[in-house]
Amino acid sequence: MAVRAPFTGDDVGSVPACQPADVAAAVDRARDAQAAWADRPVAERAETLRRVGDQFLSNRDELLDIVQLEGGKARLDALSEVLDVVMTADYYARRGPDHIAPASRASGIPLTRASEHRDPVGVVGLIEPWNYPLTLAISDMLPALLAGNGVVLKPAEATPFCALRARELLVEAGVPEGLVQVVTGDGATVGEALVSNVDYVTFTGSTATGRRVASLAGEHLVDASLELGGKNGAVVLPDADLAAAVRGLVHGSFANAGQLCIATERIYAHEAVYEEFRDRFVDATEALELGAAMDFGPDVGSLIGPDQLATVESHVADARERGATVETGGRHRPDIGPTFYEPTVLTDLPADATAACEETFGPVVSITPVGSAAEAVERINDTPYGLNGSVWTADIDRGESIARDLDVGTACVNDAYTAAWAATDAPMGGVGDSGIGRRHGAEGIQKYTESQTVATAGGGPLAPVPRLPNRLTAAGMTLYTRAARRLRRLSPFSRR
Ligand code: NAD
Repeated sequence: MAVRAPFTGDDVGSVPACQPADVAAAVDRARDAQAAWADRPVAERAETLRRVGDQFLSNRDELLDIVQLEGGKARLDALSEVLDVVMTADYYARRGPDHIAPASRASGIPLTRASEHRDPVGVVGLIEPWNYPLTLAISDMLPALLAGNGVVLKPAEATPFCALRARELLVEAGVPEGLVQVVTGDGATVGEALVSNVDYVTFTGSTATGRRVASLAGEHLVDASLELGGKNGAVVLPDADLAAAVRGLVHGSFANAGQLCIATERIYAHEAVYEEFRDRFVDATEALELGAAMDFGPDVGSLIGPDQLATVESHVADARERGATVETGGRHRPDIGPTFYEPTVLTDLPADATAACEETFGPVVSITPVGSAAEAVERINDTPYGLNGSVWTADIDRGESIARDLDVGTACVNDAYTAAWAATDAPMGGVGDSGIGRRHGAEGIQKYTESQTVATAGGGPLAPVPRLPNRLTAAGMTLYTRAARRLRRLSPFSRR
């Protein structure tokens, strides 16, 4: 399969189009290496993760080149990917062992005790999109490795070289040779074979494909986490620092040319500041430099390819037809590269326009006036998606309270998305059509484990005593349950 450079449209190389038998063989190789890896002390696996962080930092420039070459993004966007892998490796090296350590659990019966243990699931399959080929694919793999699993990664068709180079760096950092496998190829052919062969599926991609993956995972009775699309909204309140809101939301809307699941696609500005916010936002958008350079010059890069360009163009065309105003942008820029598109700001966008309802996944954002915070919350929540949102206000407590009213997995106050993403200790994911499950934090590693409870009865088996009439056993059990409840209520330490 040919891989194309979005900046030029030229071929940059080719990779094998793997078939289902190749996927099964890759899973077997990962499985063969997994048992010995799981037997290593967790501290040793954590040390390996720290060295992964070292490898990514010392190979930073080469990784930035590869991310830009096949992903077509601005170099600063590529840098956030490399640094995210380093941060995530360090986080799970530091906190991961605690998240999966054995823990003692309360028992409801005297003279018994229970403990919870976490074992690796075996081989984790990762199916990943092209928009963040390191942040998503590699950062999501690290907790699976720390938990003692093998992994098989299916990168997106557009971005296989990031995965292949990252795998080499993992091996150089001390990850056993067979433990991490990469299978390149067509999404349905390789992806569906992967779901059929692994013990857990991590999927990041579109909601449509996520539904297919979920149903296949159901057939094979394997657990899955699904990180899907979004239609993320922001509310700008009258007391917001407008300069900060403009800076944050321009970044939140156009980072990675808007091809970011948690990017802001809808902004609701209170009517008291709407006009000023809109004008300043448009000025700041026009100051962004669009470019195809392999250096830190341009702010915004290319779309990934012709399909994404077609989606963006159709959303803007539909908006125009329905009477929206294109305040700035709205143009394909083949003079820069085949699939460059200008950062675009829409106003007067009807609520039923495609760009108001469906994920654009491109550099297009709408600004709409609202009469109150409550109206903004209602409009932000009026979507089947529920990934990310943001609130902009000088009143932090009120901002956090409004954030709690948003039906989303992550909500930021006075930041568009980075604050939530960088809180690696906190779970991150979506509700509704935006997904199932979480990455980051304890949930981001515990999902890669099977729990086992070991319970020991210290006072003999919890079974009826022979020759004692069942009537007396029943009375004793009921008496015990009543007494235990009363004692728990009376206890000053009781949490009920
Ligand atoms: P996609 O669903 O087309 O592809 C994602 C991956 O699934 C690719 O590797 C693809 O090859 C594979 N695939 C395709 N068909 C498959 C099948 N039948 N079975 C198994 N795998 C299959 O998504 P995309 O276009 O690559 O990525 C863009 C989408 O991803 C957007 O909707 C975006 O919002 C979403 N996304 C979500 C998050 C998140 O964390 N929530 C992050 C990034 C991107």
